[in-house]
Amino acid sequence: MALDSKIPQGPLADKWTKHKNDINLVNPANKRNIDVIVVGTGLAGGSAAASLAELGYNVKTFCYQDSPRRAHSIAAQGGINAAKNYQGDGDSNYRLFYDTIKGGDYRSREANVHRLAEVSGNIIDQCVAQGVPFAREYGGLLDNRSFGGVLVSRTFYAKGQTGQQLLLGAYSAMNRQINRGKIQSFNRHEMLDLVKVNGKARGIIARNLITGEIERHSGQILRRKTINNISLSFSAVTNNNS
Ligand SMILES: Cc1cc2nc3c(=O)[nH]c(=O)nc-3n(C[C@H](O)[C@H](O)[C@H](O)COP(=O)(O)OP(=O)(O)OC[C@H]3O[C@@H](n4cnc5c(N)ncnc54)[C@H](O)[C@@H]3O)c2cc1C
Repeated sequence: MALDSKIPQGPLADKWTKHKNDINLVNPANKRNIDVIVVGTGLAGGSAAASLAELGYNVKTFCYQDSPRRAHSIAAQGGINAAKNYQGDGDSNYRLFYDTIKGGDYRSREANVHRLAEVSGNIIDQCVAQGVPFAREYGGLLDNRSFGGVLVSRTFYAKGQTGQQLLLGAYSAMNRQINRGKIQSFNRHEMLDLVKVNGKARGIIARNLITGEIERHSGQILRRKTINNISLSFSAVTNNNS
């Protein structure tokens, strides 16, 4: 099997920004004609699905639990990192990138980690807008703690329940889209196989875990890598310190 991460060309810090500037855009009027399948509704898939539906795409989501609320993301505790430098302690996107590469024992894909650092600040803003109750200082500003042995305080947290609170935010955003008819949520459905047409993912085969029936669903499939790049995914990791 050929392993191709499809990371864009160019200097490390510009790869994803350049790619985003180069890719074709979809006409807003055409978005409602495109069906997107998102398999998994944890923090990555749930927030991606809500964002895509908000943009106008028709989204089908799948998870094998009885509710997106049961995804493993709910277990995350420590917090979510963002290089906002609220503490004025010298933090920057580069430092978050560097610490994350180091925390991942130099095994992560550098361009993707750089992208993660670039979008980390926006992720916090979006979560706050969704109502995630991050801890605050007495003056009302968002609090940060130092986590994972890093020399700056960049971890945004909600007591020891950050994952649960983030998932509630993502799930609320999903519910808004379900209510608008833009997301069809297939819970208790397990993806069994991927349907490819001319090398492109076009659908999935899934088992309905209630009835046992095998179903087919068509649409564009978002792979996890794509999801993580477009969504406010939870991947601003706290350097392996869960
Ligand atoms: C105890 C604990 C503490 C943690 N603390 C932190 C922390 O402090 N900070 C941090 O950044 N990270 C932390 N993490 C890691 C972080 O929680 C995860 O990396 C992240 O939540 C993963 O999100 P996800 O959406 O990719 O996956 P998940 O939340 O696991 O979601 C996977 C989804 O895929 C679906 N799925 C899987 N297979 C199929 C299939 N075949 N068919 C249909 N659906 C399928 C599931 O139903 C589910 O909806 C922690 C993890 C744990 C366990």
